[in-house]
Amino acid sequence: MSIILTAPHPILRQVAKPISQLDKKVLSLIADMTTALLAAKNPTGVGLAAPQVGVPLRLFLIRPTPRSKPQVFINPEILKYSQRTQSSKDQDGVYEGCLSIPHHYAPLTRSLSVTVRYQKPTTDNLQLTTVTETLTGFPAHIVQHELDHLNGILFIDRVLEQNSPLFKVSGKTWEQITL
Ligand code: ZN
Repeated sequence: MSIILTAPHPILRQVAKPISQLDKKVLSLIADMTTALLAAKNPTGVGLAAPQVGVPLRLFLIRPTPRSKPQVFINPEILKYSQRTQSSKDQDGVYEGCLSIPHHYAPLTRSLSVTVRYQKPTTDNLQLTTVTETLTGFPAHIVQHELDHLNGILFIDRVLEQNSPLFKVSGKTWEQITL
């Protein structure tokens, strides 16, 4: 099973490369990442990008709720970001964390919805098919975080950009820290 890399690690800072075909290597990467995502319990994993398991390819999975089946995004591109944001100032503010920076959380502003064009395996797992989908709310938030991973960007970069507070969490204690 794949081990999830933690920061700092050079692969987390690389711009990942496009996937040209659905070969055995990519299928086994998807299977490994699915296992790693489902196994991530503390904290619970809601998304995982290939660079996080040491493979700099443009692929990530999201799993917005524990009941959702992990959804695969290959070569994703965000075609449209909504002007409306899901801000930390909103009632349902979104605290973001990352399996590669465990136990750290920060409220971040992201677009409320995004239109994504991506590829996914066909049901027979023989080739890639292209789809365009608009996601809203938490799934949209995760997609923006995971797409950043494919470009070598970590959520702590967004924390600096947005001047958000960053918290280190141990048990029930939240301690504000500076980067
Ligand atoms: Zn992450």
